[in-house]
Amino acid sequence: MARHRDTETVHAGEPEPRIGGAVAIPIFQSAMYVDEGDPGYHDIRYIRLNNTPNHEAVAAKLATLEGGEAALVTASGMAAITTSLLTVLSAGDHLLVQDCLYGGTHGFVTRDLPRLGVAYDMIDPDDPGSWKGKVRENTRAVYVETISNPLMGVGDLAAVVAFAREHGLVSLIDNTFASPINFRPLEHGFDVLLHSGTKYLNGHSDIVAGAVVGSEELLAGIKCMLDHLGGSLDPHACFLLHRGMKTLALRVERQNATAAHLARFLHEHDRVTRVHYPGLPDHPGHERAVELFDGMGGMLSFELEGGLEAADAVLRSLTLPIVAPSLGGVETLVTRPAATSHKGMSPDERSAAGIDDGLIRVSVGIESADDLLDDFERALDAL
Ligand code: PLP
Repeated sequence: MARHRDTETVHAGEPEPRIGGAVAIPIFQSAMYVDEGDPGYHDIRYIRLNNTPNHEAVAAKLATLEGGEAALVTASGMAAITTSLLTVLSAGDHLLVQDCLYGGTHGFVTRDLPRLGVAYDMIDPDDPGSWKGKVRENTRAVYVETISNPLMGVGDLAAVVAFAREHGLVSLIDNTFASPINFRPLEHGFDVLLHSGTKYLNGHSDIVAGAVVGSEELLAGIKCMLDHLGGSLDPHACFLLHRGMKTLALRVERQNATAAHLARFLHEHDRVTRVHYPGLPDHPGHERAVELFDGMGGMLSFELEGGLEAADAVLRSLTLPIVAPSLGGVETLVTRPAATSHKGMSPDERSAAGIDDGLIRVSVGIESADDLLDDFERALDAL
């Protein structure tokens, strides 16, 4: 019988036999390794070539958790995303991307790729009927995110896979917000998945890292590109990511439960006008999320009566959550996307995307749900 995922978070990818008997994999702080024959360039053991014992152990754990043949870890989520896109796309190609993307990815697709001769079109991930008109002869890939930021949208992911197969496209998905505990894209037919390992995978807000998972064949190409671009994760960060992933299932299950609790509480509070959480029945992606996901995630956002002024007052008044961007760590973080992650968009663009200036995004941590709810209740009641 296959082992459960929470068992795999602890045991998958661990070196066999344990190195020197060490229960925790040691940090191999060595840039290069003794030459053992005549390997090809990409097989020479060297940190930039992503093949030291720390790289291999953490990649094997990740491949098992995501159900992929192969995995790579990278120096950041953006290194994973840019390296993968640069592998599957060449000058003259065309890419379809979802219209609401993480800001760094949006910048790369809209500013850097065109300079390299790659064109793109945006698609509404909720409206498969509109995609066909955007496919061109040179379209090579389609790129989406499991849960979009900051309104927690869940696109028609099954339709993305079917569409990619029909048109011979490589399908890529950023699975950062869900983590493999809540959703495993490869099981649903995606070709490549990406992570900002900075977030849930590591979970402790203390490193920047990324990951790519997929077939042996696709990953071999992405590894060559990563070797050349040089976005390698250093062994100490590999070790921390590996350690963080051992508690991934525990953390995410707790974050799912507390976020659901907080979402219901906010939904019922009379100063809150809207809550965006896929676990709530009135969320537009609710049915799809229930069908696809094992858990609804630890991310939510909400709007208040009194808009921006009320949002700023709540952010000032909360004592437990830390006001900071980013997500997925053990500490609860709150941020106002219009002032941080989505500041690069014009007010008109934000308004077209439904992002209110007073929207507050919460990345739920692993604190006691009672303490967290008490703090939110106090801050809201003070409005
Ligand atoms: N993808 C998503 C969904 C993100 O939220 C982020 C960062 O916030 C990234 C990718 C980029 O990751 P990193 O900051 O590790 O490069």
